[in-house]
Amino acid sequence: MKCHVCGGGMQSTQSDMPFKTGPHSIVILKEMPVFQCSNCQEFLVEDAVMEQVENILANTDQGTELEIVRFAA
Ligand SMILES: [Zn+2]
Repeated sequence: MKCHVCGGGMQSTQSDMPFKTGPHSIVILKEMPVFQCSNCQEFLVEDAVMEQVENILANTDQGTELEIVRFAA
């Protein structure tokens, strides 16, 4: 897989990603599987992972300002 920005190689890794779930609420997903470019800061998330992310976010409490969830692969 190649980076669509610079053409560098994309490598499978894990990252902690913040997601805004409401005007004042943020969920941080720990150890989320992503592809990170080895040359620039670009990254991408597979569709299957994104679906899991949506499920996780749907189950979080949107009244909480900050929630940290470990991504369960
Ligand atoms: Zn790149």
